Amino acid sequence: MRTSPNVVRIVVDGSRCDGRGICALILPERISLDRWGYASIDNEPIQDPRTLARAKRAVHACPAQALALVGPVSAIVRIRPGIGRRSRIANR
Ligand code: SF4
Repeated sequence: MRTSPNVVRIVVDGSRCDGRGICALILPERISLDRWGYASIDNEPIQDPRTLARAKRAVHACPAQALALVGPVSAIVRIRPGIGRRSRIANR
């Protein structure tokens, strides 16, 4: 997936998700669970700093390491300093 500059999205690797549902509790406005309990992501750009902070929490809380923040590291760090240091961030 190509992203434009300063656009941050949360994505899920469906092959890793094991349907525990923790992410949907942390970020319910972006993550829902399908009928089998697997994460379904609204991957519209995240612009609100509070939403981005909770997205980071969801990434860290996922026991299967199935979630990632995608976008330029500078955008993620700029919105909340320190947010990019230990997050799984991919430039795609
Ligand atoms: S917390 Fe991780 S493993 Fe659980 S539903 Fe969300 S993405 Fe899947």
